[in-house]
Amino acid sequence: METTTIRQPSSLQLLEEMERKFRFIPMEAILKQDVLRQGLDFSQEVLNRNLDYKSKDYFIFSFDHIPLSEMKKGEDRKAPEEVKISGGHFGLQPTVVSTRNNPNSPYKVNLSENTPHLFLDGVDLGSLEFPPIPSWYRHKTQSGKFPGEIAPVIEWGYLIYLTVFRNCQYFGKDEECAFCDINHNYRQQKNAGRPYTGVKDLDDILEVLSWIDSEDEIAKVYTITGGSVLTNLKKKSEVDFYLDYPRAIEEKFPGRWMGKIVAQAFEKEDCQKFKDAGIQVYHPNYEVWDKNLFEKICPGKTSWIGRDNWIRRVVDSAEVFGPSHVIPNFVGGVELSQPWGFETIEEAIRSTGEGLDFFMSKGIVPRFTTWCPEPFTTLGTQAGPPLEYFCELLTKWKETFEKYSLPTPPGYGEPGVGNAVFSVSAFMDVIGYRGRN
Ligand code: SF4
Repeated sequence: METTTIRQPSSLQLLEEMERKFRFIPMEAILKQDVLRQGLDFSQEVLNRNLDYKSKDYFIFSFDHIPLSEMKKGEDRKAPEEVKISGGHFGLQPTVVSTRNNPNSPYKVNLSENTPHLFLDGVDLGSLEFPPIPSWYRHKTQSGKFPGEIAPVIEWGYLIYLTVFRNCQYFGKDEECAFCDINHNYRQQKNAGRPYTGVKDLDDILEVLSWIDSEDEIAKVYTITGGSVLTNLKKKSEVDFYLDYPRAIEEKFPGRWMGKIVAQAFEKEDCQKFKDAGIQVYHPNYEVWDKNLFEKICPGKTSWIGRDNWIRRVVDSAEVFGPSHVIPNFVGGVELSQPWGFETIEEAIRSTGEGLDFFMSKGIVPRFTTWCPEPFTTLGTQAGPPLEYFCELLTKWKETFEKYSLPTPPGYGEPGVGNAVFSVSAFMDVIGYRGRN
């Protein structure tokens, strides 16, 4: 295992080396992780085509490597939410990857025979599809809001993403999670003149959901989320504020979609309230496993709840939702960030692997998103982890998942190569993969 965190520049040679070395994860997953860590550079020619695809809705964070104000080609309005890569040098099965704008990325999206293709070092890695615009995006709410702002879909239309509170009351460097740009992204979207509602109105959400209910067959799941509420919001506690949404949704559309919530780690009694409201899957994200790093990287969570308490609550919540329906997220790669992170891939995987084993041994299946070093965060723009780290991480995740014979995480659609739609890491792409010689 490599013992340096110097960023590995992407090249065809590196991809082929990883393909030879990591035989228990598919090549689709290896490339997906590399595109996620590096971002995409769309040519002006690609962005100038007709906008007949769904562009980035900035559903919660920016997930870009540069600020909106530095996007000279109109990427913020024209880049697709996701791309689906097929064929090319590695003969890939269709692979859905979230867009992270980065004009300095080695991954170039250019036209070839009038179709967008992904290139690295001039080599064609596959043709690209962009996600379709749902038919109901043509409507406007009575209050004058666009569906893509109120209830955007991601994961190729599978997930309705309801960021009902676009800020977080963990505020400033002493409280915000060091990798998170929710508050900064809100400000930059407003500064760019984009409609970007801070606290979403229930009536707007129900109105958009009524169009989805009558016109859409692709969306199967909704996620309710937003920043943490420390004091109160709209004169409500955090639990009461967030509870209003699933209660109203499930009352109007009982069981129409699977309801999930991404929120702080709550005590069991509060979890029960969400379960009773109709929420089926709970994501109390623990972000990073190592105790010292949790304290440095999640200072707000540390001082308001504390790591031990957080983890105890995650475990306790399994009694309410059932262990397979508790899916805490961690930010893959942030344990190698500067200045506090581990020095080596080996240490990072040992620590993260310990966390995976801890939760998976109890039937709880953590998932991960791929850390994007966004410019306005405490960690700032910096060289992210090497591709080799992500290959090791996927291998460890899959090994531990298989060791405990765990079921496919609910609420993510079909698993496996060519099926997975979860676009911000490849954990769903590796499920069921049998390896290659
Ligand atoms: S709790 Fe942390 S990760 Fe979540 S929104 Fe607040 S600052 Fe961001």
